[in-house]
Amino acid sequence: MNETNLSYWEYKTWLSNINFTIIGSGIVGLSCALRLRTKFPKAKILILERGMLPNGASTKNAGFACFGSLSEILDDLNSHTEAEVLRLIQKRYQGLQLLRQHLGDQIIDYVQYGGYELFTTHDKILYEDCLSKIEQINSLLKPIFKSDVFCSKENIFNFNNIQPKYILNQFEGQINTGQMMEALQQKAQNSNIKILNNCTVTNFEDNNTAVEIKTDKFTFSTHKLLIATNGFASQLGIKQVKPAYQRDISS
Ligand SMILES: Cc1cc2nc3c(=O)[nH]c(=O)nc-3n(C[C@H](O)[C@H](O)[C@H](O)COP(=O)(O)OP(=O)(O)OC[C@H]3O[C@@H](n4cnc5c(N)ncnc54)[C@H](O)[C@@H]3O)c2cc1C
Repeated sequence: MNETNLSYWEYKTWLSNINFTIIGSGIVGLSCALRLRTKFPKAKILILERGMLPNGASTKNAGFACFGSLSEILDDLNSHTEAEVLRLIQKRYQGLQLLRQHLGDQIIDYVQYGGYELFTTHDKILYEDCLSKIEQINSLLKPIFKSDVFCSKENIFNFNNIQPKYILNQFEGQINTGQMMEALQQKAQNSNIKILNNCTVTNFEDNNTAVEIKTDKFTFSTHKLLIATNGFASQLGIKQVKPAYQRDISS
C-alpha cells in the first residue's frame, strides 16, 4: 500500500490538520499524548506505531515498579553527582506514583512485595562492593523515602549459584505491564487520541512551520512532532539516544 491508496476521506479524517504527532505507542508515547490532551483539549493528536501492538520494551518488560537497584545506583554514581542521582531517583519515584494515581492500583495490579537483587557466584567483587555501600546509599536516599531503602537478606528462596545474600529494596513494587499498557491505550482512545498501528515512520523533515513525516505507507504533515521511540531512535537518524547495551559495549 502507498499514499495513492488513501481516499480523500481517509486522508482528510486521519491525516490532515494534525497538531501533534507522536512516534511510538509505548508508555512514554501514550503518556505524552495524554498529557498533551490535558494541556490542549481541542488539539488533533495522532500516534504512529510500527507494531500491531506496541512493539517495544513497554509490553515486554519484567513488570517491576522500580527506580534503581543498588548496583544500578552505584553505577549511576560513576557518571553523575550525588545530587543528580538523587534528582533522577526522585523523578522516577514520582513518575511511579503518578502512574498509580492515573490508572489505579487495581487496574495495573500494583503490589509492593519489594524487589531483590541477586548476585551470581561470579559477581563477588560487585556483591561485596554493594553490601559495603548499603548504608551510604540509604542515607543518600533518606530525603526521598524517609527510611532505609536497602537491606541484605538471607537466601530464603534457596536459589543456586548465587552469593549468600540478596539485597532487598523494600519500596519496589510489581505491576501487570499488559494491563497497564491496555489501560493507557483505553485512556488515549477515550481522550480522542488516534493511534495508527502497523505504520513505521521512515523519515521526517522539519521545515520550520511544519514537519513532513514519511511512513512506509503514506506521507503527511504535522505541526509538531514528538519522538518516543526509545532505543530505536537511531533508526530515525537520532544518534544521541543509545540503548543501554550499546553504551556498555562502547565504554
Ligand atoms: C527485557 C526488559 C525488561 C525490563 N524490565 C523493566 C522492569 O521490570 N521495570 C521497569 O521499570 N522497566 C523495565 N524495563 C525498561 C522499560 O520497559 C522501558 O524503559 C520502557 O518501557 C520504555 O518505554 P518507551 O515508551 O520509552 O519505549 P518502548 O516501549 O520501547 O516504545 C517505543 C515504541 O516506539 C515504536 N517505534 C520505534 N520506532 C518506530 C518507528 N520508526 N515508527 C513507528 N513506531 C516506532 C516501537 O514499536 C515501540 O512501541 C525493561 C526493559 C526491557 C527491554
